[in-house]
Amino acid sequence: MHNFTDRSDVGHFINGQRTPGKSVRRQDVYNPALGSVARQVLLAEPGDVDAAVAGAKQAFAAWANTPPIRRARVLFKFLELMNQHRDTLAAIITAEHGKVFSDAQGEVSRGIDVIEFSCGIPQLLKGDYTDQVSTGIDNWSLRQPLGVVAGITPFNFPSMVPCWMFPVAIAAGNCFVLKPSERDPSAALYMADLLKQAGLPDGVFNVVQGDKVAVDALLAHPDVKAVSFVGSTPIAHYIYEQAAHYGKRVQALGGAKNHLVVMPDADLEQAVDALTGAAYGSAGERCMAISVAVLVGDVGDKIVPMLAQRAKNLVVKNGMESDAEMGPLVSRQSLERVESYIALGQEEGAELVVDGRGLKVPGHENGFFTGGTLFDRVTPQMRIYKEEIFGPVLACVRVNDFATAVDLINAHEFGNGVSCYTRDGHIAREFGRRIQVGMVGINVPIPVPMAWHGFGGWQKSLFGDMHAYGEEGVRFYTKQKSIMQRWPESTSKGAEFAMPTAK
Ligand code: NAD
Repeated sequence: MHNFTDRSDVGHFINGQRTPGKSVRRQDVYNPALGSVARQVLLAEPGDVDAAVAGAKQAFAAWANTPPIRRARVLFKFLELMNQHRDTLAAIITAEHGKVFSDAQGEVSRGIDVIEFSCGIPQLLKGDYTDQVSTGIDNWSLRQPLGVVAGITPFNFPSMVPCWMFPVAIAAGNCFVLKPSERDPSAALYMADLLKQAGLPDGVFNVVQGDKVAVDALLAHPDVKAVSFVGSTPIAHYIYEQAAHYGKRVQALGGAKNHLVVMPDADLEQAVDALTGAAYGSAGERCMAISVAVLVGDVGDKIVPMLAQRAKNLVVKNGMESDAEMGPLVSRQSLERVESYIALGQEEGAELVVDGRGLKVPGHENGFFTGGTLFDRVTPQMRIYKEEIFGPVLACVRVNDFATAVDLINAHEFGNGVSCYTRDGHIAREFGRRIQVGMVGINVPIPVPMAWHGFGGWQKSLFGDMHAYGEEGVRFYTKQKSIMQRWPESTSKGAEFAMPTAK
């Protein structure tokens, strides 16, 4: 059982062991609901990264050579353990991230979906075969693992986002080094312990805690063959450039500003439910949160008062309390950033309908809480429209018609998720086809694709070619090899000097 009162340092997991490594630098890890330091995390030095990569490299040959069905069996066992300890992991997440417990349970479940998908790796790795490409010659293709691969993950999903990466990577035969967010580092270590219990050989999965020092060491390391990143857009772009510079395969998922269009024919009650949950759930700290409501025609006058009512009545408290709808933000800096954006919105001339600033939760006066905030009459020129706030702030933009709504969204620099509420099938179809966004919901507010479909945005929400998990994930973590084979008859026909063609 996990000890939630444990104040000892959170360290690394290298070669199957928890270890402080060579780390001397530390950073505070908070309980955001209390606003107090719960423990500290060690920040890796390049030597710690070297040790993790060396362990992974050593484990690689045997793991890559293990039949996929036997690798899958380890993942089946891990799946069983994750299901068994789901609530402990969720409580670890709530304690360091702040999101409400039911939401943390949901996060763990969505990560478990990818583990389940990865258990199908024997089928996913099945190659193609062509008999008789030329007389007496067969050609087939197979996919082989890359070697040591790394994952660098954000604070907002300390279990689910790593699970987008490592189950697929290790099922495919790679060894993995995870660099979790330094703000909520404990979930990664807990999963490392469960992987060991599941029978994963030492060195196949490693965790190095840390900051830019660890990230830069991973990027420059010649034995790291691929990097998966999820986080903010400026860092995603940096990772993309650096990984490419060092000749690595890279997928770097970035930030977002997701819109939800409400058409005049939509069921307004459903749209209000959707906007409330998607804007304020997890205090807006989701890359698939809805932060802009695009209100078409006369929808604005009808819906804004309904949204205001819901924003004012949100139950904001410690995420471990069973009736909590929204917990605190992750850190004091996040709180200050979000509240300064609210001040900026006022200066820019948006109408502040509900002001969540300065919220105090009884018994949690130092917690990083802010309430739900609602702006109306936001325009595309405003910074509160253009920039990712990553907090519980919903901006309403009013437009005259559907075409303007589509143009508005397509002109935004981000393209992660989007949604349209309508009862018109033609509008729904046009929306799906014309919108320049990677993940689209029709009457679904947060269309996070299931494990076998793959996750990824467009525009500045993803740098790289392949989405996370699903079959794209399997392709990302493997390289194709084509084998052409001939078993000649015992008599030689002499050398051929022309380009071989089908005979
Ligand atoms: P972040 O970019 O600050 O950090 C992400 C990771 O990068 C962390 O592990 C961090 O240690 C590391 N990092 C931070 N600064 C670095 C630097 N200068 N050099 C090298 N590495 C650095 O992001 P965050 O605040 O942890 O997470 C929130 C962001 O992640 C939001 O922008 C959100 O939209 C985005 N996000 C995107 C997705 C997606 O799928 N597109 C999913 C979740 C979160």
